[in-house]
Amino acid sequence: MEAAGLRPQQARGAVKTVSQAWVSGASWDAALSQAPKAARRLLGGRARAPNPLTLVERAEAPDRTSRLLFRTHDHHVVETVIIPSERGGAAGRTTVCVSSQVGCGRRCVFCETGRLGLIRQLSADEIVGQLRSAHLLWEDERGDAPSVTNVVFMGMGEPLDNLDEVLPAIDTLCDDLAFGLSARRITVSTVGVAPRIARFVSATKANLAVSLNAPDDVRRSKLMPVNKRCSLTELKSALQAALPPGRDVLFEYILFDRVNDSLSDAALLRDWLQDLPARLNLIPANPGPDPELRQPDPERVWAFHKTLLDGGVRAMVRHPHGREVGGACGQLAGAHRDTLDRLTHTRGEEHHVG
Ligand code: SF4
Repeated sequence: MEAAGLRPQQARGAVKTVSQAWVSGASWDAALSQAPKAARRLLGGRARAPNPLTLVERAEAPDRTSRLLFRTHDHHVVETVIIPSERGGAAGRTTVCVSSQVGCGRRCVFCETGRLGLIRQLSADEIVGQLRSAHLLWEDERGDAPSVTNVVFMGMGEPLDNLDEVLPAIDTLCDDLAFGLSARRITVSTVGVAPRIARFVSATKANLAVSLNAPDDVRRSKLMPVNKRCSLTELKSALQAALPPGRDVLFEYILFDRVNDSLSDAALLRDWLQDLPARLNLIPANPGPDPELRQPDPERVWAFHKTLLDGGVRAMVRHPHGREVGGACGQLAGAHRDTLDRLTHTRGEEHHVG
């Protein structure tokens, strides 16, 4: 617009007006119509309407975690989860978990999404659109709970396999003209695609989370096929080479009963983490596609946790949200396989929020 003759302040004001109207729930045409007259024609010709998302299903767990199922313009489905604060009141946080792909090609054995395979990449505006829709639903009903404060890329898909869209989506989430979130409130979770870590770290200040789930290559390769190409040694080297001073990594470790949860496994994990700037979340497994992968007894979880704490690791046990509605880690795309099949092949009655 500046190139077409608008003063910088006029151009910025027009973009801000349109963007904020769209973020607040106006349709794209209504948002464009809010721009000052001089800018409207230029914006209409140059700004692309975001891809619509259509909410087709919503399930809410007793802890108020909501799993949202959206249909894309080309009749694929993606999921988004709203996770309210564990602490009540305005002091807590509200997190939205977004998807970055339709399906996923990484095929981790404990994950329902991995069973779908990769169907397609989501575009940056489809990723941003998930946050917008979740934000609008949440604003209607949050009461005195906080607005959306955090975004995690832990839904369907491997974000580092779609960096060309994920990085612009993060920029939009952080842009003052759109959502204005701090990058420190955004976390992107990867299975550890070592060759892409440097690009991610240099392009954004968003947090990086790496899903580990085993303390050695043999077991990790069985649980997560990515490890056959990017071993634990390569993963660690990539992190050490990419991370600047002062930047740490959140590791996630799903505990599976008698698979990766012994005290000697905790000691191996402690040793592997030793020379990394690491925080660690321990996540007791959720029911997933493999019935053999079960949650350990609480005593085993706490003993594992204590071994790590005693070894100087900053570790926390995270309890799952939304398990009852298939919205917890590893469950997305599993709770509604019938719906997925139906929606992929037919057009149903819908409630449009996008
Ligand atoms: S855990 Fe993540 S990377 Fe692995 S299959 Fe599931 S969505 Fe893909």
